[in-house]
Amino acid sequence: PVGRRPEIQEARLKLPVLAEEQVIMEAVRENTCIVLCGETGSGKTTQVPQFLYEAGYASGNGIIGITEPRRVAAVSMSHRVAKEMNLSTRVVSYQIRYEGNVTSDTKIKFMTDGVLLKEVQKDFLLQKYSAIIIDEAHERSVYTDILIGLLSRIAPLRKKKGRPMKLLVMSATLRIEDFTENRKLFPVEARQFPVTVHFNKRTPMEDYTGEAFHKICKIHRMLPPGGILVFLTGQAEVHSVCRRLRKAFPFRPRRAVTEEEEEPDTSEKTRQFKKAKQKKTVSLPRIDLDNYSALPVDEGDEDRLAGIDDEEEEGSDLDLEFGDDPGDSEEKTDPSLPLYVLPLYSLLAPEQQAKVFHPPPTGTRLCVVATNVAETSLTIPGVKYVVDCGRIKKRFYDRVTGVSSFKVTWTSQASANQRAGRAGRTEPGHCYRLYSSAVFGDFSEFSEAEITRRPVDDLVLQMKDLNIEKVVNFPFPTPPPGEALVSAEQLLVSLGALEEPPRTGRLKQLERARLSSPITPLGRAMASFPVAPRYAKMLALGKQQDCLPYVITLVAAMTVREIFEELDRPAGSEEENSKLAQKRARLAQMRRLWAGQGASLQLGDLMVMLGAVGACEFAGCTPKFSEDNGLRYKAMLEIRRLRGQLTTAVNAVCPEAGLFLDARMAPPTVSQVRYLRQIVLAGLGDHLARRVQAEELLDPKWRNGYKTPLLDEPVFIHPSSALFKTLPEFVVYQEVMETSKMYMRGICF
Ligand code: ADP
Ligand code: MG
Repeated sequence: PVGRRPEIQEARLKLPVLAEEQVIMEAVRENTCIVLCGETGSGKTTQVPQFLYEAGYASGNGIIGITEPRRVAAVSMSHRVAKEMNLSTRVVSYQIRYEGNVTSDTKIKFMTDGVLLKEVQKDFLLQKYSAIIIDEAHERSVYTDILIGLLSRIAPLRKKKGRPMKLLVMSATLRIEDFTENRKLFPVEARQFPVTVHFNKRTPMEDYTGEAFHKICKIHRMLPPGGILVFLTGQAEVHSVCRRLRKAFPFRPRRAVTEEEEEPDTSEKTRQFKKAKQKKTVSLPRIDLDNYSALPVDEGDEDRLAGIDDEEEEGSDLDLEFGDDPGDSEEKTDPSLPLYVLPLYSLLAPEQQAKVFHPPPTGTRLCVVATNVAETSLTIPGVKYVVDCGRIKKRFYDRVTGVSSFKVTWTSQASANQRAGRAGRTEPGHCYRLYSSAVFGDFSEFSEAEITRRPVDDLVLQMKDLNIEKVVNFPFPTPPPGEALVSAEQLLVSLGALEEPPRTGRLKQLERARLSSPITPLGRAMASFPVAPRYAKMLALGKQQDCLPYVITLVAAMTVREIFEELDRPAGSEEENSKLAQKRARLAQMRRLWAGQGASLQLGDLMVMLGAVGACEFAGCTPKFSEDNGLRYKAMLEIRRLRGQLTTAVNAVCPEAGLFLDARMAPPTVSQVRYLRQIVLAGLGDHLARRVQAEELLDPKWRNGYKTPLLDEPVFIHPSSALFKTLPEFVVYQEVMETSKMYMRGICF
């Protein structure tokens, strides 16, 4: 029996899934695999695990597992469910790559999809679990896709063995055709409030952040209370808009607007202004709750809806009422209308992220400026207005050259509709799309599955380790492109993780053989490390010359994203700018120090990473040290945890190493540096570049350029690299990232 508190119980009863509990649980009893589809916010993630628990799925010796594609969701949802059920986090727990609070009492376990995939490797039948929920399946993350494929085989096997396991796939927007076999669909009715969608007449191609800013200002000045959620594409944009908003509508906690700060004549003006405002407040179109067109808006409907208050439309009613549009000029500072502005993106520190769940200070309006993380995994309370730039920043990989770049592209219709839906959680809402209905019509219907867009070498290795030799035949919900599978397999053969395919036979046979090479013992060791195969190879070689602690640290630093703070933000206030400049200078100085001297210089950027981690650990890995030295604290913590985890993993494969995590490391010796370079080369052997010779004979674009085997174009050393001035003849790089130029990252020689 679950003893929920009355206020929790009351809130639960309002959730659409609760009305469907009977139907859902009946379906679960009668079927092995179930697909459950319901709008974001309908209560899937928080309630369905509780249904299973109450139906006794965790009362035997099996537990209930829930996977989430995002770490933030795994952590926060486990806390939420523990709270709702009035149970300790010893019982409702989470496990993510670096940490968890799972105990022997755990009955409900939230985890990232990658964590469950690792568990499949240890116990293919997942006997620990009596039920598994794959959440957010619509996100189509690679691990989720592969888990669905695997579990569709595991669940029937478990039934055969007489220890059945239930599989639930939960999704917000489901492209049902993709989830094959034995499915039963129970769309939980979208009992969310209607959201009126407003399209822009014109679509700003360049300055959509400026457009977003102006739209937010208008909403805040004109429209009735209610939170604003803004979708932008990246961290830099989020910060820039937050800064502009805070300047326009300053909010000072507590000591807000004390007497001395408030100049009398401003306050008089403010009062007048406020009065004027009140009269002008637009009353939103009345929405008939029983008769609304649910999202998505039907083709052709958009313009009708948009007509209501398309701001670009000359002479429209709203245009008049929004008469004092400041146009392109920056907003006037207006402290009388405090706006509580919060950023939200995945690299943000967790305690900052958690702020969005708390009510804003009284008298203020909440405005969350977010990236795509707010689209489906997290429900932010009290949002009434959504401002959607319609774009998303994605990483693109060139399958042939391996060059990656981040590009901003239009999102899909499904995801734009998800974003709009965020406005209707607690009452009818409004979504302002900063693009025209025609542009929306050109969006693709659904977002592509991640598996079709990124290299799959890590997946292929994991699958081979599960003895799935013919990866091509695996029941992927969406299979990765054939050429991605071929190049993954080639890379794994070259790393020694898979057996060399026989060199005889005709081309066709060869092709087939290539896609079914069995795994080698080295490959098995590599598969047990929670990092991509290139880095796993480095770990597997690290034993020589007591290099392991360095290799572990290096691999941890190379696989954690963005360890250095982003310091080229757009201009802020003068004070901020000079602080930023100081920080930049300090970081440059520290980078030179971390790069070391003599032999270690050859490790280039990798030595800088080693040095940075070493220095940070030496200082006790504090937020202050990170902050002062341009390191991202969250990244430093991740590196620390990953080092611990890699140390355990290496010890498991090779107990004689007897490693223990020593936070403080002496700088590597000359011979260790030599070995480290060889080890890095073993993992990145195909990432070799040579400085162009006789460059005076070539096109000026080749100046200081490097030639790589796969690219026709030159690649470069970034000014922030430790080797920018050295320009060695040969270099090994971690990856090529295309920004303003093709830059190599993580270079050594
Ligand atoms: P779904 O998975 O269908 O998107 P959820 O189960 O995540 O829905 O959310 C159901 C409801 O629970 C939402 O309305 C949300 O407001 C509420 N909720 C979720 N997490 C929290 C939290 N940490 N604090 C307060 N309310 C929450
Ligand atoms: Mg959910």
